[in-house]
Amino acid sequence: MSTVYPKAGIKPASRKVCTRCHKKKALADFSPQRERSDGRHSWCRECLAAVSVDRYHGDGVVRSRTQRRALARRAALRRLREKHPEEFKALYAEELRNYDL
Ligand SMILES: [Zn+2]
Repeated sequence: MSTVYPKAGIKPASRKVCTRCHKKKALADFSPQRERSDGRHSWCRECLAAVSVDRYHGDGVVRSRTQRRALARRAALRRLREKHPEEFKALYAEELRNYDL
């Protein structure tokens, strides 16, 4: 079975059922999520907000505060590395080992 991605010009189903609250909602009530076949989260925005899923790693997985902070730290380090690779190496050699970037 091949995965179908929503294409420009092809209108996907305009409504879907949230797998958390089981309410049928407009597609606009679901956050975009590229890796999903329909391009949308399986939880509606309301449900996502209710469990405060990390917005930067919003993959529908509920993480503890510690996990979310570690992920945020890692993302920040990754951004810094892209912008200032040399500085990054000098300053964060130790963190590089910790986070296995
Ligand atoms: Zn919902």
